Amino acid sequence: MAPERLKNYVGGEWIDSTAKTTGQVHNPATGELIGECPFSSAQEVDHAVQVAKEAFKTWRKTPVEDRIQPLFRLKALLDLHAEELAAILTREHGKTLGEALGSVRRGIQMVEAACSSPSLMMGQALEDISRNIDCKSIRQPMGVFACIAPFNFPAMVPLWFFPFAVACGNTFVVKPSEQVPFSQKRMFELVHEAGFPPGVLNMVNGAHDVVNAMIDHPDIEGLSFVGSTPVAEYVYTKACAKGKRVQALGGAKNYIVVMPDAEMDFALDSITESSMGCAGERCLAASVILCVDGCKDEVRAGLETRMKKIVVGDGSKPGVQMGPVISAAHKAKVLAKIEAGIAEGAELVLDGRQPDAPAEGFFVGPTLFDGVKEGMSIAQEEIFGPVVCLMAVKDLDEALDIARRQPLANANSIFTTSGRSARKFSYEVPAAMCGINIGVAAPMSFFSFGGSKQSFFGDLKAHGREAYDFYTDRKVIISRW
Ligand code: NAD
Repeated sequence: MAPERLKNYVGGEWIDSTAKTTGQVHNPATGELIGECPFSSAQEVDHAVQVAKEAFKTWRKTPVEDRIQPLFRLKALLDLHAEELAAILTREHGKTLGEALGSVRRGIQMVEAACSSPSLMMGQALEDISRNIDCKSIRQPMGVFACIAPFNFPAMVPLWFFPFAVACGNTFVVKPSEQVPFSQKRMFELVHEAGFPPGVLNMVNGAHDVVNAMIDHPDIEGLSFVGSTPVAEYVYTKACAKGKRVQALGGAKNYIVVMPDAEMDFALDSITESSMGCAGERCLAASVILCVDGCKDEVRAGLETRMKKIVVGDGSKPGVQMGPVISAAHKAKVLAKIEAGIAEGAELVLDGRQPDAPAEGFFVGPTLFDGVKEGMSIAQEEIFGPVVCLMAVKDLDEALDIARRQPLANANSIFTTSGRSARKFSYEVPAAMCGINIGVAAPMSFFSFGGSKQSFFGDLKAHGREAYDFYTDRKVIISRW
């Protein structure tokens, strides 16, 4: 069968892109070519934005109670089709069916949270701010917003944004990752079925040109970006200079502290899941383990035992615990980072370069380094693969000092049974996502999400209450009658 060429969804219709250039979409477990993602042009972005701008005129006047009705329907449809969506996601991304389903469920929770918009969008009021003068502040939608998504959570990441944006009365354009466009194709079929008015939600497939066109477009009010740090910084800087609101979530290098008083079995299970889950392609994945006060040998032995048992293979097959990485190019990048670690003098305890998995897929096996030093590239750079680094430190202060020097501060966790250590850690640690006895410090939809330092550009983070600040403008009305 010829690989399917993806379409754009604009104004409630599926439209063939005029793009001459396309990106190839592969099943990373088999290497099979499954799709062609059109690299749409600036004109196609403009068309989607004009359609969304027109739809905004009516949508912003639609009562919020009516605006959330298609979201309720979308939630029901996503529940009904969650397993089907997970299978599509596994085919284009490679993660296991269980991981894919988990991410779809997290996405559904975003839709549920956005259904509370009549309460969450409320403003404030105070009478008699001065004699006979009353004051209220209301939240108003602003117009067209857009999101730019990464490859690693193909169904979930756009759901961090568009349910909140459209519930607030804005209209929206999604740009999926060109590496994994099929999940959003199915998502938008469900969006269509849910009955959003034409033009409220749109999707334009593509790559860099679409991103640049969104940055430059005068009728896009704001951008929600998720991806690597260099691109996050680029999008943030360029789009802010154009006067847009921007929230740009970037890359990560997550340091995890293990105290000698930790419940070790629990901690090691959690760290294995955090670092190896989704083949390490998670922005919250444990990457460097700072082992405090002599507990490193126990951590090393425990992780090695657990990681060796992980079954690597096609994520759609029963019993497989870890799928491939996204592409041949990304596999080469991960392998190069492993080789850099060896060259820098780290001890390769577990070598995942030639895993017991089908040769045609893009597989990297569980990889464990010991003897890692802070200055090594494997301790500093995001690897985004199933690689864990162990460092021995003398105490919590030294661990915190090291964590503070790491710029890609997305998530930090501590494993301990001491409330004192836990409090000190959460008080002082730099990353905005902080876990205490938690391997993946992911919040729920009703809390906000985003890292710190070079892992986040902006001020208002994703979902939770902050979404309402990002996607609305506050107007203060002072009145005297
Ligand atoms: P990426 O930065 O390569 O791509 C992200 C998006 O930007 C894609 O839609 C892509 O088309 C576009 N893009 C890429 N290069 C561009 C360029 N030069 N100019 C304009 N647009 C460009 O990221 P990725 O590889 O798809 O995703 C993995 C990265 O995302 C990792 O660094 C990971 O940590 C990060 N991530 C972060 C979070 C978070 O919450 N902080 C969540 C998920 C993923």
